[in-house]
Amino acid sequence: MTDHIVKIYNVLVFRIDDLWPGLPQNIVFQLSEAPYKPPRGFAHCLYRPGSPVFLQVAPQLGFEHPSRIVGVLSHELGHAVTILTGCCPVDRRQSELVADELGSLIAGSPVRYDRQWVQVIDGSGSSRPLDLDPIGSEILTID
Ligand SMILES: [Zn+2]
Repeated sequence: MTDHIVKIYNVLVFRIDDLWPGLPQNIVFQLSEAPYKPPRGFAHCLYRPGSPVFLQVAPQLGFEHPSRIVGVLSHELGHAVTILTGCCPVDRRQSELVADELGSLIAGSPVRYDRQWVQVIDGSGSSRPLDLDPIGSEILTID
């Protein structure tokens, strides 16, 4: 079930390379059990200043609808882009909104939120609620 996560990831990364040439060289994709927190915690970015961004994805994402897979990966890749371009907003809520905007650009379709507040790109859902907190450790910074 993880093969299509990787296939979708590779398509999205190809798009990032079109938008920000060379940037994907600094993003490392990892399948990991660690970040999974149902129903929303499928992935997070792990970042240490001066090193690549590690995008850790729970294999459980592979059981989700492709619209969710693209939505979740696009949002997380949006975080990776903000980190790597050095324009990561300090405010966490603003950071989430920017990740959605960049994720929409990467996916080629608006990143929206379904009834369980998981990102989707199928045109359904709503914009991110203002009071929706990020998953606790969605972006981990290692000093
Ligand atoms: Zn986020």
